[in-house]
Amino acid sequence: MSGNETTPAANFIRQRITEDIDQNKNNGKVMTRFPPEPNGYLHIGHAKSIFLNFGLADEFNGLCNLRFDDTNPAKEDTAYTSSIQEDVKWLGFDWEDRLHYTSNYFCKLYDFAVELIKKGKAYVCDLNADEIRKYRGTLTEPGQDSPFRDRSIDENLDLFKRMKDGEFADGTRLLRAKIDMTSPNLTLRDPALYRIKADTHHRTGDTWRIYPMYDFAHCLSDSIEGITHSLCTLEFENNRPLYDWILDQLEVDCHPQQIEFARLNLTRTALSKRKLIQLVENNYVDGWDDPRMPTIAGLRRKGYSPGAIRNFCERIGVAKRDSEVEMALLEFCVREDLNKTAPRVLGVLKPLKLVIENYPEHQDGEDELDAIINPEQPELGYRKVPFSRELYIEQDDFMEDPPKKYFRLSPGREVRLRFAYFVTCTGFEKDDDGNVTEVRCTYDPETRGGSAPDKRKVKGTIHWVSAKHALNAQVRLFDHLLKEDDSEDDFLNQINPDSLTVLEDCKLEPGLANARPGTTYQFERMGYFCLDSKDSSPESPVFNRTVTLRDAWVKKQTPKQGQKQKQGKKQKQRKKQQQK
Ligand code: ATP
Ligand code: MG
Repeated sequence: MSGNETTPAANFIRQRITEDIDQNKNNGKVMTRFPPEPNGYLHIGHAKSIFLNFGLADEFNGLCNLRFDDTNPAKEDTAYTSSIQEDVKWLGFDWEDRLHYTSNYFCKLYDFAVELIKKGKAYVCDLNADEIRKYRGTLTEPGQDSPFRDRSIDENLDLFKRMKDGEFADGTRLLRAKIDMTSPNLTLRDPALYRIKADTHHRTGDTWRIYPMYDFAHCLSDSIEGITHSLCTLEFENNRPLYDWILDQLEVDCHPQQIEFARLNLTRTALSKRKLIQLVENNYVDGWDDPRMPTIAGLRRKGYSPGAIRNFCERIGVAKRDSEVEMALLEFCVREDLNKTAPRVLGVLKPLKLVIENYPEHQDGEDELDAIINPEQPELGYRKVPFSRELYIEQDDFMEDPPKKYFRLSPGREVRLRFAYFVTCTGFEKDDDGNVTEVRCTYDPETRGGSAPDKRKVKGTIHWVSAKHALNAQVRLFDHLLKEDDSEDDFLNQINPDSLTVLEDCKLEPGLANARPGTTYQFERMGYFCLDSKDSSPESPVFNRTVTLRDAWVKKQTPKQGQKQKQGKKQKQRKKQQQK
């Protein structure tokens, strides 16, 4: 399964829809919806559902609605409805004029509830929460009928109207479906359909004092919208009989088919709004769009592209069983995408001054080298990078006393400065604490562009930035949000205290002064980075590391491939030696 394949990977939902079309069910039409609750920002798990719902509709010439499932006024907010729309658009989907709110259906839903009461299928129950729980029974014991179950239809109609009119306090009464208190499926033991809640709703204000429960509102909203296939996550499997029961009791034109699929779980992060909101509210992160968050807004700020997220969603596929996907797979998809698209630049994260003793001062700043923009896209050509007598190199690229196999700079050693010249280390300076503060070298003017006319080789190539031209920037490096994979333990105890590292005074290629959020660059040898959309300014630019270069996923998943590459290298070396 790759994003490039033209035939979409088979999955059981697609098969099901194909069968329905073959049998001309719903007149061969496909209508889906993405139904977020506006109680938080969307995360990568929602992306899976978005790609599935919008993707399948697209594939079968159908339509997909965006519907806010806004039945819980206490937790919802218009800030969330805006962010959700922005995120769905950014992922590349368009609901056109089909933006819906469950709250738009509150009148219709109320009428449906009245219809159920009139049919003797729903009743007002005065038990309190504790009593309801007691009467409900357990998985092994049947429940007991509520003493209010046999109220007359007229009494129920009257009480339900008074609930609506705000006559009763929160939690004192419920409207319940009259199904079966002995059902082995607990969701069918007279589930609640409406509750009393005096909260102000972000769209309907104080108009309503009762709000429909999810199970009641969801199936009917689907039906009102003519949804043919109502896709939801596995935890709703037990609710499907209730979904069907409600629609079967009422006069509705459309009875959607609920189909469940496994929700996405990712290692080393949380994918539940309940948990993510704790991180935001307790300031563990800098808002919902903190680049460490698995939210769409966070991933965007970190430099992920919609294409990378799409590839990831295609790769993980759709299954009927819950599983956990490795974060490394998501990162793999991001690298795969960025490797093709990201312009290359030079950036030094932990700078160390390198002085070229024999570099003519009069030439300082005159020399501009050609550096390829992206070897994966040679048609983009070259950019100019200024060179001068004083450069910055990475602290890690110099060692006073290197171990074997260290091929970077050390006293007496010659290395290549990427795109520039060969330099040989002639000395260095240290401060009182023994830290190297400056390295000195000489360059070979004959090696301009990075190769020697006498074909002599160097083993190491290091990156650099001209000191007087460098763009000073803050760079933020991120690690996983959680120390371990998410578990049921106290969530806040699992937080990784080292998930953010801030590096000040990094030295970047001057062209990056024109960087814009939304473009991710490869800092050669250091990873992929993008300008921060929130905290950056032209005077103090801030870059986020999108992802490292190292690919843990490939190493882990295809050891054979790794071996092959190594053998290939060795074979090449042997051949070379034979040629010599
Ligand atoms: P959360 O547990 O994060 O609050 P939710 O299911 O309550 O998630 P909703 O806003 O109700 O969030 O979700 C909208 C849609 O996205 C639903 O159809 C839901 O099934 C789907 N969805 C949510 N989380 C995931 C996930 N991790 N993987 C796949 N689909 C998901
Ligand atoms: Mg939900």
